[in-house]
Amino acid sequence: MKYIVVTGGVLSGLGKGILASSTGLLLKSCGFSVTAVKIDPYLNCDAGTMNPYQHGEVFVMDDGGEVDLDLGNYERFLDVDMTRDNNITTGKVFRAVIEKERRGDYLGKTVQIIPHITNEIKDQVRRVAGASGASIMIIELGGTVGDIESMPFIEALRQLRQEAGRGNIMFIHTTLVPVVGAVGEQKTKPTQHSVKTLMSLGIHPDVIAARCSIPIEPSTREKISLFCDVPLKAVLSIHDVEFIHEVPMLLEAQGIVPLAEEHLGLQKLKPDLEGWRRYVSALKGTRANVTIALIGKYTHLKDSYISHLKALEHSGVENGVKPKIVWVEATDLEDTRDTSCLSGVHGILVPGGFGVRGSEGKILAIQYAREHGIPYLGICFGMQMAVVEYARNVLGWKDARSGEFDGPSEHVVIDLMPEQGKTDSKGATMRLGAHRVTIKDGTLARKVYGVPEVRERHRHRYEVNPTHVPRLEAAGIVFSGNDGGERMEIMELPDHPFFLATQFHPELRSRPQKASPPFRAFLAAAKRVAE
Ligand code: GLN
Repeated sequence: MKYIVVTGGVLSGLGKGILASSTGLLLKSCGFSVTAVKIDPYLNCDAGTMNPYQHGEVFVMDDGGEVDLDLGNYERFLDVDMTRDNNITTGKVFRAVIEKERRGDYLGKTVQIIPHITNEIKDQVRRVAGASGASIMIIELGGTVGDIESMPFIEALRQLRQEAGRGNIMFIHTTLVPVVGAVGEQKTKPTQHSVKTLMSLGIHPDVIAARCSIPIEPSTREKISLFCDVPLKAVLSIHDVEFIHEVPMLLEAQGIVPLAEEHLGLQKLKPDLEGWRRYVSALKGTRANVTIALIGKYTHLKDSYISHLKALEHSGVENGVKPKIVWVEATDLEDTRDTSCLSGVHGILVPGGFGVRGSEGKILAIQYAREHGIPYLGICFGMQMAVVEYARNVLGWKDARSGEFDGPSEHVVIDLMPEQGKTDSKGATMRLGAHRVTIKDGTLARKVYGVPEVRERHRHRYEVNPTHVPRLEAAGIVFSGNDGGERMEIMELPDHPFFLATQFHPELRSRPQKASPPFRAFLAAAKRVAE
């Protein structure tokens, strides 16, 4: 196993994840099988209990792991399915160690950060490496070097270098080069400081990826090389590009592949980014010509909906269109009940969500889509609210609501799943991960997927209440997908140009050149409206 470790300095949010996944993509294009681990030095055991405003969307794996959104980037860039174990958090490591201590596994020893926590970190990394069958592993350490939280991880990675052997591991350190003053001087001091911090912890970076708004100048590069003790060729300029998809090309052009050959003892490699290049030029070539209203609750942080946006991007390329997103804050719509922001849009998307706040705004947008014949795609909460809307406005059940909201009602059309009643604990207790969905013949969903059975990822506690299904069907809803006959997974309205909603999250499996079928079909329908 060869390891590439990506650390970050100066500040967070420099795009380490993109840099790491781009490096992985390049090596994959050389013929290696590549996997990735994201380390998040926070105490949560996983990302599942966090509000999207904390770290953006919670990504879900096939095995039900609720993980950091960077894992979504890895799956999309590397086109591989990963597991919950590919995301290591401090909480996960400490919990494992404390459980071992309680079991008496440490045989009376004093349990300490070094070696017990650091050993556990290395074990978890190696376990994923072994199970993946890959030959190269990218390890991305979240946070910033020097943080108290990341200390045990840095130490574990230092030890890993010793144990794996120097010819099997390469360290890339990402830093920021700010451009300051009237003349726009590129400053290297923050980089110098963060490299010094890293070195004081025993790690000498092999490559420095210098993030900057503009290309790094030769003199800046020389300075970084001199002060940080890395060869000139190992200082890479990671300047702003229009699309993150261009980063693999940026890295290739600056020789990251020969650097990997050198540090990992690899034969001469020949990256082949042809397919990726084609995808990127298609992406860059189309003008925004289809407007999609996204009715969300976390619209101030676009990362909350990153997988939805990516699925739209993938679908846009396959449809030869480019979606322009109109961000609609559900709570605003709820307060004003003014739907003028929706007039003229070519498609309406209600993504996953939680809680009553903003739900009336979403219901209003769904009603608008249904009554105006605008293509509608509902995801999870977006399907649940579509059922509530239909029950209220078509069936006339004015009190219809979801069990997620309070208040008296005869028509709880969306209800807590029976197995959910058994726990009060919030961590990892939803219905999670990939489940089989059977799709009915002759439906829109069947046409969209083209197959009678799919596996899609889930993350929910509520479902369409089975007792109300016959009445909802009699009133016109077609439940075109289900799990085991009882659990409704897809709904559609046959008398509408395109009205499809899923209880699962198809966006989580969407990849470049393999767009998620519901998203692809939704954009195709929106394109028809736009034309
Ligand atoms: N809040 C809803 C539920 O728990 C929907 C969840 C979601 O959209 N991911 O079922």
